[in-house]
Amino acid sequence: MLNIKGLVISERDSGETGKAVTILTAELGCISVYVRGGRKSRKSVSSTQLFCYAEFSLEEKRDAKNITHYYYNSSEPVRMFYEIRLDAKKLALACYFSDLLRFSCESAENAGEILRLTLNTLHFLDKGERETELLRAIFELRLACETGYRPDLIGCHVCYKTEDELMYLNMRTGQLTCSDCAKTGEGAVSAQGTALSEDDMYTAELDATLLYTVRFIALVEYERLFSFRLSEPYLVRLNTFTENYIRYQFGKRFDTLRFYKLL
Ligand SMILES: [Zn+2]
Repeated sequence: MLNIKGLVISERDSGETGKAVTILTAELGCISVYVRGGRKSRKSVSSTQLFCYAEFSLEEKRDAKNITHYYYNSSEPVRMFYEIRLDAKKLALACYFSDLLRFSCESAENAGEILRLTLNTLHFLDKGERETELLRAIFELRLACETGYRPDLIGCHVCYKTEDELMYLNMRTGQLTCSDCAKTGEGAVSAQGTALSEDDMYTAELDATLLYTVRFIALVEYERLFSFRLSEPYLVRLNTFTENYIRYQFGKRFDTLRFYKLL
């Protein structure tokens, strides 16, 4: 028997009355758990539904290929995030987060940090204490960081300058270039940010405020991650940046994001 805390990030029907859920755990990353009679049993329903964080008691069985299968035994809910399920826009955003997680978090590597990020984001989404678009930007960028795609934000990758009126981040390589080096260097962009090479479709222009914000989200400790606010125009620019960053790093567009944006 295995006792483990985890967050349900997806559920699907399996067999006549059963269901399978994907649970994000700190210790094992994402695991798939079969819930016998899960569509009918009232006992298992509440803590195996989407976005429930619970302490699960699971049976482990190894098959002939030595792959472990998990079967639900019992659970004790820790946090249910009720408000998310009552609001179509919040639910759509949480479903997009769930898609990102299932796409990027198969292994257990760094899963503790990823679970922490997800629980914190869902907490603020549930409470409605932050704009949904700010939560989206934080989650997109920090998840990319925690799954191995943290951009190199220390300074210009050519001359090591740390600040400039404008700096350019190549979203494919994760490298920063300052304005001077961008004018002269390889893969250059003009002072107006217009394209000079094929690399430029991957280049984001960051002014000092935006660069500060991106650095903050990528690097700050979790206790302070949700403690900042942004003016509306900067929030729009930040969202454009983090959305593109996810798209280029993960190499995929998500239907759940498109649906969320329709609401
Ligand atoms: Zn430079």
